[in-house]
Amino acid sequence: MKIACLDLEGILIPEIWIAFAEYTGIDALKLTTRDVPDYDELMQWRLGILKENNLLLRDIQNVISRMQPLEGAGQFLDWLRERFQVVLITDSFYEFVMPFMRQMGYPIVLCHNLQVDVDGFVSDYVLRKRDWKRQVVKVFHNLNYRVISCGDSYNDVTMLKESNAGILFRPPENVAAEFPQYIVTQDYHELREAFLDAAEHC
Ligand SMILES: [Mg+2]
Repeated sequence: MKIACLDLEGILIPEIWIAFAEYTGIDALKLTTRDVPDYDELMQWRLGILKENNLLLRDIQNVISRMQPLEGAGQFLDWLRERFQVVLITDSFYEFVMPFMRQMGYPIVLCHNLQVDVDGFVSDYVLRKRDWKRQVVKVFHNLNYRVISCGDSYNDVTMLKESNAGILFRPPENVAAEFPQYIVTQDYHELREAFLDAAEHC
């Protein structure tokens, strides 16, 4: 049995910060890991903007409560879970992603945590570990699992590199161009094929 490590946002669910940026009309919140490779820098920028605009965790969660997984994501995940042990690994936060997990039958999801102050502002965030997506794959390798990973962005690349096979799903052009060693897929049909092919060869 092989393990499939999947990024979450952009693969199974929409980008949460982009949805929130659209809802609030704050364009500055549209930057994601696709644009800013340094995650710490990106998060500090986001927290600053939330504070400046008086936005609480509750405001973000209200937007999330109206969101759904990407079209076809649920069926794709069911298909994948029949064939692999699936672990979702995301640089998002439990405070954001759990409503999506309910809609997808509670797969295993590994992510970070937010800190919230008494007034309900997001005051800080607790990252699990530096370069942790790659560390997760390393742990599985230590347990003699073969790992196939799928991501769409800069923060997935070290995970892809550490895996026995890496797949990009709808990456932005700059990511696809910088990492031509990974197969690029554009829909769930292609992604299924890529997983089956990778499983045969790794
Ligand atoms: Mg992503």
